[in-house]
Amino acid sequence: MRKSRCHICGGEEFEQRRVEYIYRRGGHYLVVRDVPCEVCLRCGERYYEGPVLLQIEQRFKAIYEHEAEPQAEIQVPVEVYAS
Ligand SMILES: [Zn+2]
Repeated sequence: MRKSRCHICGGEEFEQRRVEYIYRRGGHYLVVRDVPCEVCLRCGERYYEGPVLLQIEQRFKAIYEHEAEPQAEIQVPVEVYAS
């Protein structure tokens, strides 16, 4: 577990979880499921290890450069908020 405090709220309690991470760059998206992270129990801020983020970035690059196939694809509806 983390030894330091949450940099958002100063909380000291964290829990290991696996979450859905949405990586976005240049108008492209990659949804990665079951990504390990630590979650601040007070405010919900998520903390990821450097190698985890690096792996996601590498998968994004490989998929968009057609060197790898994603496990699945989803269609996502898009809306503009009407005020
Ligand atoms: Zn927090």
